[in-house]
Amino acid sequence: MKRLRVVEVGPRDGLQNEPRIKALSEEALCDVRVKLVTGLAESGLADVEVGAFVRADRIPQMARTDLVIKKIRESRPELWAKHRFWALVPNQKGLELALQAGAKHISVFTATSDAFNEKNVQMSVDESLAVLKPVVTEAKSAGLAVRGYVSTVWGCPYSGTVSPQRAKQVTEELLAMGVEEVSLGDTIGVATPKQVDTVLALLPKTWPLAVHFHDTRGTAIANCLHAIEQGIVTVDSSSGGLGGCPYAKGASGNLATEDLLFMLHGMGYETGVSLEKVCEASRELEKSLALHLPSRYFKAWKGVHGF
Ligand code: MG
Repeated sequence: MKRLRVVEVGPRDGLQNEPRIKALSEEALCDVRVKLVTGLAESGLADVEVGAFVRADRIPQMARTDLVIKKIRESRPELWAKHRFWALVPNQKGLELALQAGAKHISVFTATSDAFNEKNVQMSVDESLAVLKPVVTEAKSAGLAVRGYVSTVWGCPYSGTVSPQRAKQVTEELLAMGVEEVSLGDTIGVATPKQVDTVLALLPKTWPLAVHFHDTRGTAIANCLHAIEQGIVTVDSSSGGLGGCPYAKGASGNLATEDLLFMLHGMGYETGVSLEKVCEASRELEKSLALHLPSRYFKAWKGVHGF
């Protein structure tokens, strides 16, 4: 049976796009985040992205990621020792905060599109790679694991189509810096399996790649399956499908972990994750935040349980 690795990004990539949680106090929000992260780790997800060291005035949902990490480490040392809890770091300042907080796994990010990167981090792609290089070097010498994200691989909300060749260049630069894995993101959810092929066919099979599809137009799960059939073994997803798409009002964002697991397990792939426990973690989050999560499997599961 083929083993696949699911990287859970809901507590970071999902929650940061949830406008409704801004009303919570920092302390209350931290508790909700810790509960979600530990619930997901208990389901068997070995990789969970827990937060981001970004400016709290820009992304209040990610405020006090240091406290989230501290609470996980202190309350659940057995999970802390065994799982990989990732924290997003945009620059040198973010790395300093991550190191102070005791993070062991960080992710860095850039894009294939200058227009997107300028809006996101006020830098061109090349400028952001120059900023990330010393960050990655320092993180690696401090013993941290580093994951890289490349956004807009299949399209940019500002400049439209992006050259697949550019995705290859940016990925290669991140790997050359020492990033251990690069996650290719369909930020606006426009790819179909044919376009997934076009990009993956350009990238050497030996590169450590993950895929990060958004379900904005309903193709995320088809794209995942296609990428897996092309040899990809690591897939990002978000519990409950948490996190709308910030570039398409009202539309779905991240692929739901539950929908992905249902498909993979039904096809005989092994993930080491309990789908039931992921649903329970999503359900707790829904109750805490009065949300309605979009995952199709999760909705059906709630129906079966009479929730
Ligand atoms: Mg995402």
